Amino acid sequence: MTAPRRFYLHSYGCQMNKLDSELVASRLLHAGLEPAATEHEADVVLLNTCSVRQHAEDRVWSRLGRLRIRKRAEPGLVVGLLGCMAEEHQRHVQARMPHVDLIVGPSAFGDIDAKVQAALERNAARAAEAVLAQRDAPGAGILAVGQGVSGDTIVRNVRTRPHRSQAYVSVMRGCNMPCSYCIVPLTRGDEVSRPIADIRAEVERLVGDGVTEVTLLGQTVNAYGRDLGPGVTLAVLLRTLHEIPELRRIAFITSHPNFLSRELIDAIAELPRVARYLHLPAQSGSNAMLKSMRRGYTRERYLARVAELRARAPDVELHSDFIVGYPGESDADFAATATLMEEVRFAQSYVFQYSPRPGTHAAAELADDVPRAEKERRNQVLLAIQERICREHHAALLGTVVEVLVEGPSPRIAGRMTGRSVHHRIVHFPADDAALVGTYMPVRITSAGAHCLVGELLPENHHAETGVARA
Ligand code: SF4
Repeated sequence: MTAPRRFYLHSYGCQMNKLDSELVASRLLHAGLEPAATEHEADVVLLNTCSVRQHAEDRVWSRLGRLRIRKRAEPGLVVGLLGCMAEEHQRHVQARMPHVDLIVGPSAFGDIDAKVQAALERNAARAAEAVLAQRDAPGAGILAVGQGVSGDTIVRNVRTRPHRSQAYVSVMRGCNMPCSYCIVPLTRGDEVSRPIADIRAEVERLVGDGVTEVTLLGQTVNAYGRDLGPGVTLAVLLRTLHEIPELRRIAFITSHPNFLSRELIDAIAELPRVARYLHLPAQSGSNAMLKSMRRGYTRERYLARVAELRARAPDVELHSDFIVGYPGESDADFAATATLMEEVRFAQSYVFQYSPRPGTHAAAELADDVPRAEKERRNQVLLAIQERICREHHAALLGTVVEVLVEGPSPRIAGRMTGRSVHHRIVHFPADDAALVGTYMPVRITSAGAHCLVGELLPENHHAETGVARA
């Protein structure tokens, strides 16, 4: 009997990619492959990639370079490039990287197991014949983007969740927004929402398998349902899923400010088991930049949406993304972003330095005119502001008791476990008990840093004051 083939999957980028990786892994497990503990032990190395940032792409190119060296010694090795870079750079990879056996875009993961098996057989035959040097012309045999069935038809009966109580659920794919700097509409295509009944059935299956927290994923998740006709909205979906009693937390990312409707605000306010944080990227505080970015809202409109949300659901915290160094961003534009950050007092922000993405409007039409050093400086300024705000938020929690969904042992400190509050804050506490994983435990906060909270575990029946799911 031959040993099962082993795969190793690197995932880059956003939550959508993480979910895609989970789907790919589930298909491979279902097909009889086994996960390898390290890349070095794997017969199949897959890179599920992200095109949104240049830095993420650079890491992938460098890893592909290292795999080329390994493949010279191990011709049976299967190397696969998946995800957005596969979609965007297909021709380049076919022409310049013949050691890449698979190039599969996000819409073609449905039969990834068959593609991997075919590549394994092809490489094994080539290795056996020792004709690697005369291999096919570049690109021959490569399984290209778009082949296979839609990602939505993927069978999802084997999952590789970090632990049994959490799962990501893709509710839509693609994006119809025109943001000038973003490659996603090109790589992932138009918005396609899944019917509510399908999503509910999937969540019920997950709940039957022990899941108590789901995160609904979409590039513009609060635009969910636009393609399915009137009456199908994220608010309706949240209300439907909220009927499943075993679900303790329902989160959703990423939201666009334009679709933060009154209906959705009402749902967030009225549904206690909807997570108490909202990722609502502002990107800039300058109206000139927002217009050039084609975000479709002004600073004033963004703030008005935030005010309405806070009036209805004051316990909901806001997370944001910001781009610094966008073409034409002046000192005054940047200062407006800094003041927006101060005004909203986000609980968390991701700051990105602008880099032009080929194929986007901004790359084609606008000069990347903010010097690299200035982008870095602005980045550091925003990070410092956000860090101070985080410390202030966290300090206010000292002595309170928060409910934590325990995720597992701390990756850094032995004898500590870690989990997330309903506000998505990282909480560590001294414990070493595998039975706690997946449970909701009260933790009294005893110390607070900028990036995490530390506390002491309390008995299970202790009342949590903050972040408890109000049933
Ligand atoms: S909303 Fe804009 S930034 Fe977000 S995925 Fe769509 S185009 Fe990209």
